[in-house]
Amino acid sequence: MTPPSWVLVAPRESCRERLTREPKYWDSEENFGKRFNGRRGEIHKILYQHALSLGIEIRPGQKVTDYFEDESSAGVVSNGERITGDVVLAADGVRSKARTTALGFEDKPKSSGYAVYRAWMMSDDLAKNSSTAELVDDRNVEESWSTPGDRADALDVLKGWDPAVHAIVLATPPEKLVDWKLVYRDALPTWLSPKHRIALVGHGDGATIAVCLQLSGKEQAPLVLKAYQRIRYDRVRAAQKTGETTRDKWHKTDFAKLKENPETVKLKRETWLLNHDAETHAYTVYKEIIEALEAEHG
Ligand SMILES: Cc1cc2nc3c(=O)[nH]c(=O)nc-3n(C[C@H](O)[C@H](O)[C@H](O)COP(=O)(O)OP(=O)(O)OC[C@H]3O[C@@H](n4cnc5c(N)ncnc54)[C@H](O)[C@@H]3O)c2cc1C
Repeated sequence: MTPPSWVLVAPRESCRERLTREPKYWDSEENFGKRFNGRRGEIHKILYQHALSLGIEIRPGQKVTDYFEDESSAGVVSNGERITGDVVLAADGVRSKARTTALGFEDKPKSSGYAVYRAWMMSDDLAKNSSTAELVDDRNVEESWSTPGDRADALDVLKGWDPAVHAIVLATPPEKLVDWKLVYRDALPTWLSPKHRIALVGHGDGATIAVCLQLSGKEQAPLVLKAYQRIRYDRVRAAQKTGETTRDKWHKTDFAKLKENPETVKLKRETWLLNHDAETHAYTVYKEIIEALEAEHG
């Protein structure tokens, strides 16, 4: 996927003014860090085929309704069937059942005070409109994924903004406009179940936990999961924080200062984040982490 060619800076009180341009910055791995851009469906397909080629059983259409663990095993109840293993890695996303059932945390999203309008659509109409044409030199389509938002409300919220922003909203098919309230969840104090045989994992954690399990094996499963959490926890928290700092930078912009140094508004994706090789890092630190954990627990 090619990034957009412009980031439009459109303060309410001013007319259109281009302060900076993103693509040069985005194009440079030196500035932006390593990245793998692609259509999600295609990436899923590649991973899926790879897993099948390794002989991994994948059962689609499952609904996990419960988690359980004891001293020597853990498992799930899925579509009414009880499935047991050495550990459970619960990659069940933002509305995680494992978070509530296995870890016992209540799911209480907090309002951030922010909401966004999002839309996916053909960009042909934007390309024909002189005020937006330059924004869409690459065009993609994706399915809408949530309840439509209200176009009139969106235009009202955007009163006084750059005409190009209005043109984008007007060119958005109403059924493609999503009114998405942004919520927070506090960082969990732990990702592990009481007996350390069930772990929450996110989409960035797979390589780390695979290395940990490979190096220690299933006999030490609870220790392995603790090591996984120790390796990932602070890093994931720091990555989450970058979302907040970017949001603040863009929503609380001092435009007078920005004019002096437009570069500061650019999307900052630190190389510490994007150039991280989780697999190599896990191999490097695993032994030291295990030794520290063993020392802590006698
Ligand atoms: C609109 C939007 C745009 C985004 N854009 C980007 C982007 O451009 N780049 C990027 O890197 N990230 C993007 N993200 C973030 C990214 O999608 C998430 O961070 C990522 O998908 C999280 O991965 P995950 O594996 O932890 O959970 P998910 O991808 O949410 O996967 C969880 C899976 O578990 C399944 N599941 C849940 N509960 C159960 C249950 N009880 N039983 C069985 N299955 C269950 C769900 O059906 C789902 O398939 C975007 C997110 C959103 C919402």
